[in-house]
Amino acid sequence: MVLPPKFRRLAVLRELIVTAHVGIVARAPQDVKASNAGNSCVSAQRVGLLALLGLGVNHNAIIWTLALLSIGGIPTPDTPLTFISLDRVAGGLSGGQVAVFNSLRRRATAQGLPVYLVGGPVRDAVLGVPANDLDFVLIGDAPALAAEVAEELACKVIVHPRFGTAIIDIEDDRVDVVTARKESYPSPGSLPEVSASSLEDDLARRDFSVNAMALPLVGDSPEVIDPHGGLSDIANRTIRTMYSDSFTDDPTRMFRAIRYEQRLGFQISSDTVSDLRRTIVSGYADVVSGDRWRQEFQKIFGESQAFKMLIRAIGLGLLAAVHPALCDSRPLAILAGENGLAASDYLAALAIPLSPADGEQVSRRLNLPADWARVLRDTIVLQDISPLISGPSVKVSAVCSALEGLDDNAIAASARLSQEPQFAARLARYLEVWKQVRPRLTGDDLRTMGVPTGSMVGEILRELLSAKLDGLVGNEEGERALVNQIISRGS
Ligand code: ATP
Repeated sequence: MVLPPKFRRLAVLRELIVTAHVGIVARAPQDVKASNAGNSCVSAQRVGLLALLGLGVNHNAIIWTLALLSIGGIPTPDTPLTFISLDRVAGGLSGGQVAVFNSLRRRATAQGLPVYLVGGPVRDAVLGVPANDLDFVLIGDAPALAAEVAEELACKVIVHPRFGTAIIDIEDDRVDVVTARKESYPSPGSLPEVSASSLEDDLARRDFSVNAMALPLVGDSPEVIDPHGGLSDIANRTIRTMYSDSFTDDPTRMFRAIRYEQRLGFQISSDTVSDLRRTIVSGYADVVSGDRWRQEFQKIFGESQAFKMLIRAIGLGLLAAVHPALCDSRPLAILAGENGLAASDYLAALAIPLSPADGEQVSRRLNLPADWARVLRDTIVLQDISPLISGPSVKVSAVCSALEGLDDNAIAASARLSQEPQFAARLARYLEVWKQVRPRLTGDDLRTMGVPTGSMVGEILRELLSAKLDGLVGNEEGERALVNQIISRGS
């Protein structure tokens, strides 16, 4: 349920740079933006550099980012980059990505291969933040090209000739190389039908203008290909769909819109918000499978500002379109400013306001895997039993019995989310200490002391544990005295 360290670090890195830079510059009043941008960048550099070094982030990525900041090349809302240095893009990549990038760049230059960097990495290059994954489009046979690159780099490749797609699997990275394609949706919410096509068609099928740009791999600083106004939307910090039925064709794009909006500190345009609301009201969310919705939740849970995204999704009525009970954002707000959050924390925050029946329905609607379903269910159970756990004279043994068998992640998340200090403290204490407590005496000890083999051994061990948890016995001698007392009580 937790993202691999590389992705968590990247998410934090992107967050730092985007907030430190775009946020600071964008918040400056228009007339002082240009003169202040440099100062803001310098302080952002200092804060960012220390933080990034602390995170152990790829030094190339840091140097690349700082280089962009120091030459004033970072796109501000007033000056989006239209020419992107390919060396700088390469400088922000991990080892495996660089190898693929350079191989494709060489081939594009030497053979005139029409291959382009597309989508997210172009958006991120314009913004001056390191890319997450690399996506390339080829006007031609992408699986064949990917196979050649993989052979050159002695790495693995997974090809799908029928779909014209390939994934180069190199070191810890997976790089997509796909044939430029056109998509059409046979019915709203269905998966698209695809056919090979031009770069223009390939960009036109994308979700948002900021993700519909391409970068040729020839020359030192090629010009961004931007047929849909992505650069100007970046300048205006706007998330805009490519056409007004975009969300009806693929309702999962509603989650994507919110994810980019909150990650980048942008705003979804008013037209796009209207389209989103219309799509929800028309019930298109119902046609999306649970697996597809769940994957969107999963992507959000992997973002460093996930709680904001979920709050926004609730505010727009999107989560209620997935299930009507997902409409209370108060528990999510408690997660603001918390670090090291995992999927279970967000699931628990969503689960707290739910009834057990709603929880079951949400689990089924999203086809949750067993571990997520357990977090949801046990968080709701914990809400129900919270008065028992936080009562003033509740014994530790009673708390432990009530919590026995409940999911640790649900307990940890409920402790984090609780507004009731006694409840939170007891849950945390349970996980840290009480759950680990065992009697000193074992079953063998009891049998040696004359306890007959059978269920009585287990019962006495439980009684010993309760007594130990409640502070009634402190050492082995005390435990033996209690066992003798129980034996004589039973005889
Ligand atoms: P991230 O930074 O989160 O990786 P990304 O933009 O690279 O963002 P991906 O999910 O990897 O996002 O998708 C790659 C590209 O494919 C996007 O930039 C977008 O152009 C396109 N895309 C992805 N999902 C959709 C979709 N549902 N509809 C249309 N285009 C999409």
